[in-house]
Amino acid sequence: MTDLYDRHRAVLPDWLALYYGRPLELTHGEGRHVWDAEGNKYLDFFGGILSTITAHALPEVTKAVADQAGRIIHTSTLYLNRPMVDLAERIAALSGIPDARVFFTTSGTEANDTALMLATAYRGSNQILAMRNSYHGRSFTAVGITGNRAWSPTSLSPLQTLYVHGGVRGRGPYAALSDAEFTEACVADLRDVLGQARGGVAALIAEPIQGVGGFTSPPDGLYAAFREVLDEQGILWISDEVQTGLGRTGDHFWGWQAHAQNGPPDILTFAKGIGNGMSIGGVVARAELMNCLDANSISTFGGSPVTMAAGLANLTHLLEHDLQGNARRVGGLLIERLRAICAQLPGVREVRGRGLMIGIELVRPGTDEPDQAAAAAVLEAARDGGLLIGKGGGHNTSVLRVAPPLSLTVAEAEEGASILEQALRSA
Ligand code: PMP
Repeated sequence: MTDLYDRHRAVLPDWLALYYGRPLELTHGEGRHVWDAEGNKYLDFFGGILSTITAHALPEVTKAVADQAGRIIHTSTLYLNRPMVDLAERIAALSGIPDARVFFTTSGTEANDTALMLATAYRGSNQILAMRNSYHGRSFTAVGITGNRAWSPTSLSPLQTLYVHGGVRGRGPYAALSDAEFTEACVADLRDVLGQARGGVAALIAEPIQGVGGFTSPPDGLYAAFREVLDEQGILWISDEVQTGLGRTGDHFWGWQAHAQNGPPDILTFAKGIGNGMSIGGVVARAELMNCLDANSISTFGGSPVTMAAGLANLTHLLEHDLQGNARRVGGLLIERLRAICAQLPGVREVRGRGLMIGIELVRPGTDEPDQAAAAAVLEAARDGGLLIGKGGGHNTSVLRVAPPLSLTVAEAEEGASILEQALRSA
């Protein structure tokens, strides 16, 4: 292990983030559990950062991958591809976007890049509205719109980005507002920012619940209120569903559905869970918008048959077993249990979330100051107790992130909560 770590350090970039003082090498998984190279077993509450959405080693996915790989692993989008058409039909029908077209990529980053290319081409503008504290990926355009500076390593950008409030309340004047007042203030901020834009703005891109930013939810309906303002100028709404899609939030299949009063987004991007760990990303948009590009474009590996076969098997399992409903039920119990545990702990500012996307924000006891050191210590202690969780929350990284596979059982939720309680008390 140490040897592998030394080799990792010697050959990979310093900025490739690693968890834990003694980094983990995971070698296999089953259900909601993973094992490391030393044989230690962990309950997985971070699922490859929300990618393992059904379960580790789900037999249907393993079989679909093996069957397809045994026939042919890869062809090209230059040829007809049955599993790609099958999966596109399923996603188009689920997307809520009328006359939907689907384009597959290999990552969430590339999906957002494509969405931005569509929006800027369609609108003839490179001005983008994005949310403060947001995260949208790691390509040049994606970091250019990412509001969370801890994950945006360059200030150069091919886009002009204007940041607006709404994704996170923070600790400033917005913190004390009611949901209605907050929505009103954010709409006023949006109008103010738009007033400063030079000429037309192409699109607003937003995560319905900020993921890397610390699982912060705006009030339901915020993006519907934004939509009214955007519609006045024909500005498009891109919903980045890379973390919130596929039932993760329990209440909805997509995060945008908590903001649906004025219809679906113009463009939706997805990735992570759809392939249960296989590299699938994608973009959904109505035909007129998707087809606004007038030059050819392919993605060599986007829509590759092996990944599409995995996606189909995974999506079928997710829907047939109502894992969205499970996320709502088990997530509801888990958040209640965590709230009860944390009510007695002075270092916890808030337990928040929806479905199986739960954040625990830590502060220095007796203050409102983010406690990054405590978050790191809880992460280590949880690992020692046999539980993997994540952290996030803007540049402070003081939010613990809990996002298990959506098949989590009640017993596993209770076990994880108990380990987390120990870790919170000991750290
Ligand atoms: N958007 C969001 C909301 C994300 O959380 C992520 C990944 N954390 C991305 C985009 C980028 O996805 P990928 O890492 O697959 O490129």
